[in-house]
Amino acid sequence: MELQRPRGTQDILPGDSPKWQRVEAVAHRVAQSFGYAEIRTPTFEHVDVFRRGVGDGTDIVEKEMYEFQDHGGRALVLRPESTAAVARALLQASAFSELPLRLYYLQRHFRYERPQSGRLREHTQFGVEAYGAAGPLADAEVIALAQSFLGALGLTNLSVRLNSIGDGQCRPAYRAALLAHLEGHRQDLCADCQRRMERNPLRVLDCKNEGCRRVIAQAPQTLDHLCADCRAHLEGVEAALSALGISFSRDASIVRGLDYYTRTVFEVQYENLGAQSTVCGGGRYDGLVDALGGAPQPGVGFGLGVERLLLTLEEEGLLEDRPAGTDVFVAWLGGELGPEAMRIAQALRASGLRVEEEILGRSLKAQLRRAQKLRAAKVVILGPQEFLRGVAILRDMTSSQQEEVPIEDLPARVGSAAPRD
Ligand SMILES: [Zn+2]
Ligand SMILES: [Zn+2]
Repeated sequence: MELQRPRGTQDILPGDSPKWQRVEAVAHRVAQSFGYAEIRTPTFEHVDVFRRGVGDGTDIVEKEMYEFQDHGGRALVLRPESTAAVARALLQASAFSELPLRLYYLQRHFRYERPQSGRLREHTQFGVEAYGAAGPLADAEVIALAQSFLGALGLTNLSVRLNSIGDGQCRPAYRAALLAHLEGHRQDLCADCQRRMERNPLRVLDCKNEGCRRVIAQAPQTLDHLCADCRAHLEGVEAALSALGISFSRDASIVRGLDYYTRTVFEVQYENLGAQSTVCGGGRYDGLVDALGGAPQPGVGFGLGVERLLLTLEEEGLLEDRPAGTDVFVAWLGGELGPEAMRIAQALRASGLRVEEEILGRSLKAQLRRAQKLRAAKVVILGPQEFLRGVAILRDMTSSQQEEVPIEDLPARVGSAAPRD
């Protein structure tokens, strides 16, 4: 039997790589244009990073982590998300001594979930983290960054949904109201949530179980329980978004059930033909660094699933065909000329061109077919008689016109003629 890739993973084959490279290039460019610097963390971490940084009792930690013990008996886990891992790295590097910190990552995450369209067990996330600013400007900045990134990819029908989930001042009263509601619907909750309710009713808000979702939809809303500070923060975010010309609406159904999430939570949704899909979610997590053992640091950020985004871009026809990967093809005839063709190809590469040379020794017809398939703009044809005169034929693949060019002049001639992006 042939070997298959594991369930919930995918191969990114050469034909798909240009789409990934385009999205990644836009992510790097837009994040850096906002002053965010890239951070990369290890693929595996000590399990405590996520037990403390995501939280015991969450679906991620209870059910979805790829945990293993290494040969030294250490409890390790494939990174299920990056926010806790990034905070761990910043603490370890004593990076919080100079604030604000603006970071982004493009990383793989691993979760044992039921695979579905755009949701894999190994998936890729583009995310940003802004640390050090407790005020609402940082929240607006990360939302603006998400919006700019999606806009740069051509997605325009975007809407920002905003909510506040309160903080340490106003959460106890909300928690009591939520608990009273959950108690009244205990029999409709899943077994996990009946257990979670006792320890932390907020965790129920994150449950994906359908019965639980129905109970949550009727639950009291955090917006009705905000203290004056939380209300002012939310209004500050809204004022900054208005100043930036970003339209938004409040949506009380967006929640995060983790203790260290505070105040702002948001989603960026894409709307098409009346249907909405969430492409990006984020929020403020002022209690995270504290939970990992550091001095408290205000932080806000978002995460965006790249596989899901690619599906949306594809549906919208925003991913062009595979761009040409080769500018010039170097063809040759006669058994001796292979090394000389390679030398010409090297000289052309040195002038910045993308070049493929013939290595199979095929017929000229087959070589030209290959050049056409590569969408090479130019073909250099090296024949025995031309070679003796120190020239090669330069063929323009669009006009089919050919001319003789001295071999040593090829880099200058082709370099100036080839289209660059
Ligand atoms: Zn549940
Ligand atoms: Zn509050």
